[in-house]
Order: sequence, then C-alpha cells, then structure tokens
Amino acid sequence: MPQNLLDFDLDGLTAWFTELGEKPFRARQVFHWMHQSGVADFAQMTDIAKSLREKLQQQAVVHAPAISYAHTSADGTRKWLFDVGVANGIETVFIPEEDRGTLCVSSQVGCALECTFCSTGRQGFNRNLTVAEIIGQVWVAHHSLKTEPNRTTGEISDRPVTNVVMMGMGEPLANFENVVTALGIMLDDHAYGLSRRRVTVSTSGLVPAMDRLAERCPVALAVSLHAPNDALRDQIVPINKKYPLRELMAACRRYLVHAPRDFITFEYVLLAGVNDQPEHARQLIELTRDVPCKFNLIPFNPFPDSGYEKPRAESMRVFRQILQDAGLVVTTRKTRGDDIDAACGQLAGKVADKSGRVMKRMHKEAA
Ligand code: SAH
Ligand code: SF4
Repeated sequence: MPQNLLDFDLDGLTAWFTELGEKPFRARQVFHWMHQSGVADFAQMTDIAKSLREKLQQQAVVHAPAISYAHTSADGTRKWLFDVGVANGIETVFIPEEDRGTLCVSSQVGCALECTFCSTGRQGFNRNLTVAEIIGQVWVAHHSLKTEPNRTTGEISDRPVTNVVMMGMGEPLANFENVVTALGIMLDDHAYGLSRRRVTVSTSGLVPAMDRLAERCPVALAVSLHAPNDALRDQIVPINKKYPLRELMAACRRYLVHAPRDFITFEYVLLAGVNDQPEHARQLIELTRDVPCKFNLIPFNPFPDSGYEKPRAESMRVFRQILQDAGLVVTTRKTRGDDIDAACGQLAGKVADKSGRVMKRMHKEAA
C-alpha cells in the first residue's frame, strides 16, 4: 500500500523522508505543495528532482476523501458529503460571513456518545477518521473555495477558510491522536497557518482528553453543556454519568491555565420544555460562576423522529436575558444552511453502524 502523505504532519513527513534517505527540506517542499498549493500529483511538484518525484510516485499518494456531492444553500452555506468507504459518508460545512469563513469539520463516522437530541448520535458509530480524512476536508474546502467568489462578499480570497470548528459529525476528543495531528497541520505556517484561537474543538466533555488537549494543542475549546444539573444532563448527554458537572467545570478551569486570556464557550441547545426554563438559566449562572466563559445558545434543529421540539422565541429571549443580566456574554447561533440540512446537529452523512444501537432502536420501534 502506498503511504498517504496527507496522514502526516510536518514532523511525521520529515521522519518518513529521512527513512527514504531524503533531506528534511524536501519534506517541507512537498508539504507546501500539498497544503499551500493544493497539488496532489507529484509530477506537478516542479522544484523537486525528477528522481525523487518518481520515487514518490511509486511509494506514496496524496489522497483526500472523494466528494460524493457538494451542495450550496440559498444563503451561501456549502456542504460536502465525502465518501469514506463501504456505505460510510461524512459531512463538512462551510459558512461564509462578512469577516470570516468558517469550516465545520467531522472527526468520526457517526458518534458513540448517544446524546439524545443529536442526529449523528442517533445513527450509531462506525469508526474514527484518519488524519488524512480530517485534514482532507480542510484541503478540499480550502482549495476549491480559493478559486470562487465568497457568496457573501463576492470577493475571491486565497485564504477562504479563516476558522475551523470541530463541530461536524463525531466527538473529536474520542479520536484524540488523529485530531491533534490534524489540528497541528491547521496551525502550521507551512500549511494553513491558522491561529490557535481560530480553531475550535467542541466536546461533550471527555474530561481526561480535555486535560491532554490543553497540554498538546490548546486551541479554543467549546463545551457542549446543554443542561445545568446532573439529573438532566445524565438524560440528554449520557457521558455525563461518567464525567459529571463538577468534574467538567474543574476541567474547564484547568484548560484555561494552558490557554491564557481565553474563555470556554459553553454550547447550549435549547429543547422546548426540557432545558429552556428560567430556572435552568439561573442554575447555569451558579454552575459556571468560576469559569471564564461565553454562552452560545443554539435553538434545537429538528430532524425526523427526534422526539424534541424547537424552543419558542419567547423562551429563548427570556433565557438569554437572564444570562445577560448576570453579566454573561451570550450569542445565539443563527441557523444557516438549513435548506440543505447543513445546520448544527443535522449532519447525517452515512453511517454503517457497528455499535448495535441502530438495530436495537429498530427493534424497539417495531415492538
Ligand atoms: N461531539 C461534539 C462536536 C459535534 S456536535 C460535541 O458534542 O460537542 C456540535 C454541536 O452541535 C454540539 O454542541 C451539539 O450538541 C450540537 N447539536 C447536536 N445536535 C443538535 C441539534 N439537533 N440541534 C442543534 N444543535 C445540535
Ligand atoms: Fe456525539 Fe456530539 Fe452528537 Fe453527542 S452531540 S452524539 S457527542 S456528535
């Protein structure tokens, strides 16, 4: 099997070149060709000696996942479905705005964590994505968007992706090593050169992995909170039974020691009648008192048979006001791309479930 060079960060590529008997600066050149110029064909890497190009052609490939389809929404949001083998597909979304372009990247095929309101969670879990499949999403988006005008501003930019959020399918911290390697490539000036604060990992709260991320690559951290007390969070974010709120809040505080001047973004999906009452907002203020943070309120995005409903506009307004009155910074996530099912939590992809969960649910529904 040829080696896929998209699986390597620069250190990994340098080590691989050294084994091949090549100098480190050759690795850097190839890294630039791949990530900065978007070139996958070694024959086009013109400043590299022909003999080395031939060697690479025999032993390596630059292989991003294949696009099954790409859709653009009325508001300019773009969604790709990538084929990642045997009945599996993952989704990636690009959201153009006036001052930035945000790419929402997937980390797993499905997700093993079973949050009850999440359509990815409902589909079961198949496997972790490789580094090449994670960075390949950035690679495809970056190089295809570079040649077309931004749908919001009409301008062509050679850096269309200014921000990356690991908020697509999957729990990024459950695929720790591959995600950290891919994050390193996003931050590397020899590749995409994104600053640490423009790359966000979103986690449902895997406490030990949060500590490891702080040490290895302290990018911006978003924590999916969704409930202000353990009783409720146990029900809707089941990983809470393993890492309850007290431990999660302590992990947030420890994270910020490694990310000075940062804050945690708490994501909170509002589910009508479940977690959107004034008492929940008041409990949240207490819970997060010692954590420098901002809140991102996300109205639930419905999907078939979810069993949940969107919050009423009035309950969202009241909820937001209570947090703001306590001095908290609150943003409400605009829904973008919902006409192409590209909104948060609607990424469905295709998951050949291996967890047995989908079968179990089908049996339950049939009974
Ligand atoms: N597994 C990670 C990242 C992927 S989900 C996490 O849970 O944080 C990205 C965000 O979308 C999370 O905050 C998640 O809770 C939210 N989300 C999931 N399903 C949703 C839905 N149906 N409506 C709105 N947001 C949803
Ligand atoms: Fe997984 Fe995140 Fe969905 Fe929970 S919300 S099931 S952790 S992808």
